[in-house]
Amino acid sequence: MKLQIVKGMRDLIEQDARVFSHLEEKARQVFSLYGFEEIRTPILEMAELFTHGIGEETDIVGKEMYLLEDRRGQQLAMRPEGTAAVVRHVVQNQVLKQKKQAKYFYFGPMFRYERPQKGRFRQFHQIGVECFGVESPVADLEMFLMLRQYFEAINLKDVGFQINSIGCMDPSCRPQYKQNLVAYLKESQEELCEDCNRRIDTNPLRVLDCKNPKCQEITDSAPHSEDCLCSDCGDHYQTLKNLLDEHQVAYQCSHRLVRGLDYYSKTVFEVYSANLGAQSAAGGGGRFDNLFEQYGEKQVPSIGFALGLDRLALLCPPVEAAPPGVFVLGFEATAVSKVVAQIRQLGLGCSYDPNSSSMKSQFRQADKAGVRFVAILGEEEVKTGTVGLKDLETGTQENLSTEAAIAKITEVLL
Ligand code: AMP
Repeated sequence: MKLQIVKGMRDLIEQDARVFSHLEEKARQVFSLYGFEEIRTPILEMAELFTHGIGEETDIVGKEMYLLEDRRGQQLAMRPEGTAAVVRHVVQNQVLKQKKQAKYFYFGPMFRYERPQKGRFRQFHQIGVECFGVESPVADLEMFLMLRQYFEAINLKDVGFQINSIGCMDPSCRPQYKQNLVAYLKESQEELCEDCNRRIDTNPLRVLDCKNPKCQEITDSAPHSEDCLCSDCGDHYQTLKNLLDEHQVAYQCSHRLVRGLDYYSKTVFEVYSANLGAQSAAGGGGRFDNLFEQYGEKQVPSIGFALGLDRLALLCPPVEAAPPGVFVLGFEATAVSKVVAQIRQLGLGCSYDPNSSSMKSQFRQADKAGVRFVAILGEEEVKTGTVGLKDLETGTQENLSTEAAIAKITEVLL
């Protein structure tokens, strides 16, 4: 049998794994400042959670979802995104009966059967945030402030926000805009790509973010959703823009930004970086005030975003592994393991050669490990309960009792 990883999936090791942990840790720190609590939902959910909430016409549900049947014939799905599961949690546990607002963040793998390429995987990772129960654009503002603070914390430069408002379900708002857009698109229908011809009937807003140059040329002059908002959505969008200006958050308005999923309403936004190449979106989000209704629940004003960790990792400076402070060198396994254990117990990284190779080889390993101290346990040292302590930075070596050597190491390294 040939052992091989599944196409579009990858193992994260060393630098990648360190960067992922660092990005998650910083997110935890920053998002907590804004009152968000971590939630961990399962990877498997009932398939209908996504078909119902996200919409079968969307790519991620219609084409890309990993579906499986369990032994009792239930249709399950490997989650393609995080929001639907968090909403499921809130509804199932009647969270909003106990409090007016609920705020969560999550990390974890998502699964989409897409064509793998740079920055695009079939198992990828997201950091997501959801805020339930706030209608005011102040909740939208918080998303941007929190993201800005997070990007500062992870030293991410050259990222920008694009925003748009796609309105609500009031007949005078998005339905009217859709009509205007469809009428406009029909005028040039023959010139649009095959996918967009289908989208005109199924999801006309998606024609706006088609990457085909001819489609883009046509939609350059398409009507803007911003110009067709009902007064409530218009006010909401204007207030958000004022608030962003007030807080000096830079953004660009884009009429092309519609996001891929059916459940969005009002504010939608994306985080871009020119340094990402073709897959330039590092994350995105928006309001989904109608998602609860799609599950037969009362309306809950909601907003959230998801960042792609795999893409953020491409943008962030490397995170170096902390080298162990000490290498214990010796040939007597019991004596070596005792000293190693004592040092580790103090909270210091300590390395040794469990194979007790030659002195030369052990010195080479110590050098490679990048340690500050080498503690040498030769035959004589073991007999007398001492340690030859070599400080690789100063080049000094002294013979000390084990206790004194450990005290010295602690004094320098802790
Ligand atoms: P979405 O909600 O689909 O826009 O996803 C949010 C973010 O997740 C995107 O902006 C990407 O950074 C990331 N993302 C989505 N799909 C993939 C993928 N297949 N591989 C890697 N990252 C992805």
